[in-house]
Amino acid sequence: MKVRGRLAPSPTGALHLGNARSFLLAWLDVRSREGEIVLRVEDLDGPRNKPHAVQEAISDLEWLGLDWDEGPFFQRERLGVYREAFEQLRDLNYLYPCVCSRKDVEEAASAPHESLDGAVYPGTCRGQKVNAKNPCWRFRVPENCQVEFQDRFAGPQSFQVDQQLGDFVVWNRNDEPAYQLAVLLDDHAQGINEVLRGADLLPSTSRQLLLHEALSLLPPSYAHLPLVRGGDGRRLAKRHGDTTLRFFRENGWSPQKVVGLLAFWSGLGPQGGEATPSELLKDFDLRRVPSDEPVWSEPAH
Ligand code: GLU
Repeated sequence: MKVRGRLAPSPTGALHLGNARSFLLAWLDVRSREGEIVLRVEDLDGPRNKPHAVQEAISDLEWLGLDWDEGPFFQRERLGVYREAFEQLRDLNYLYPCVCSRKDVEEAASAPHESLDGAVYPGTCRGQKVNAKNPCWRFRVPENCQVEFQDRFAGPQSFQVDQQLGDFVVWNRNDEPAYQLAVLLDDHAQGINEVLRGADLLPSTSRQLLLHEALSLLPPSYAHLPLVRGGDGRRLAKRHGDTTLRFFRENGWSPQKVVGLLAFWSGLGPQGGEATPSELLKDFDLRRVPSDEPVWSEPAH
């Protein structure tokens, strides 16, 4: 079977070094096996999306030297597909309406229920008659719901979804799909059979596997890469200085220098080296990428 992977930027701000590393490795992983790449712009996240950011994300990928065979596809143009799946899940009784705000959920969740990526929903609206105009809809995670999968990079994974993550949102209050639903419908429609992305999405993979099962869809295989961290050990963010590709472009870094840094982090080149994505293709093997977290420290100016 031909490998089909994807680059799926969210145009919520300029791409940063962490995103760039995932995209480069996703590209190398597919291209090194003569597979095909789809570009999908994940532009659902309404207010956080900035109009020029779509073009900027695409231009950043091109600047790095990445290419694709199909797309860009836009999630905004596929709202009907998502709605159909939502209605199917709702009619099969996998979902229930919920009126709790994010703040309600955070306040209700006490420390032992802290989830891996946000508060675990305490189930307030489960089994209640909710009469509200704009509820969100949550997936009812069964009791003792253990999801296991083999990650192509991170190895065997196991999540107790009801305890560790809780009932999750599939359809938002603004009457639009949540990321969890859209992403798997897109991967399915676009024939994606391998997903490579950052380890921040590892817990979400177990949610997405539950949705695959509920919709009788075959999931792709997953590989999750360690996140890039700042010198303080925390996940790369604004506090670590400007790590957007735009910043490097504007400050005289060549794409070869940025790709050289991503390559160094990935065990594919020397510190301070320069490279193009195509030059890294030779002998590329995802299994040889080190599993420790790369650390970004701001260069002295
Ligand atoms: N759009 C997401 C991001 O930029 C990636 C989603 C995914 O790979 O499933 O973080």
